[in-house]
Amino acid sequence: MLAVALAAVALLAPPRPPIVWKPIPFGPARLAETTAYARRHYGIDSNVLHPRAIVEHVTATSSFSSAYGTFAADVPDAELHQLPGTCAHFIIDRDGTIYQLVRLNVMCRHTVGLNWAAIGIEHVGLSDAQVLGDAAQMRSSLALTVWLMARYRIPLADVIGHNESLASPLHKELYAPWRCQTHADWRRADMNVFRAKVVALARTYGLRPGPPPLARATGC
Ligand SMILES: [Zn+2]
Repeated sequence: MLAVALAAVALLAPPRPPIVWKPIPFGPARLAETTAYARRHYGIDSNVLHPRAIVEHVTATSSFSSAYGTFAADVPDAELHQLPGTCAHFIIDRDGTIYQLVRLNVMCRHTVGLNWAAIGIEHVGLSDAQVLGDAAQMRSSLALTVWLMARYRIPLADVIGHNESLASPLHKELYAPWRCQTHADWRRADMNVFRAKVVALARTYGLRPGPPPLARATGC
């Protein structure tokens, strides 16, 4: 009986989707820059990520290679001029290919205020709507998101769009000029569509990922 029950649980676990490991350079210098960033912005003396949230992004580029090139180059970012260079753990291409660039136990700079706690998933595209309308990309994105949620026990409330970052209870930023900094990718209305699809897929595995995030005042 026990063996049968365990087999049933295993069958219900969301499978790991196919992932192409395409690491960006993340040697000792970039790791040290990441630790310095975490100390400066979060008061954390480490570059180790313990994932508690997932932030969805849109690259605002039309190709995987240009996004990959931006993340691979460890240079100060064009917007905020700090090191390490920006990055994301995953990039999902238009054809649905999932590339992983960074190990999941390493912090990576994709969302001001949340890099200490969040896995970053980029989608190649120019807008939320374009990604939502791309069946192959969405299939991969939902499979990856649900697999990560199950693996790290991340509730739906902590699956957010970049534009929702300031309202996250996990948001933390010690550097005052950046406290209200966010980006326009994945607004709440689009994330609500995305999250409804996450819930539908999670239910097929018998998972109940909880309610969506509350619409909190950010003070910004
Ligand atoms: Zn973003």
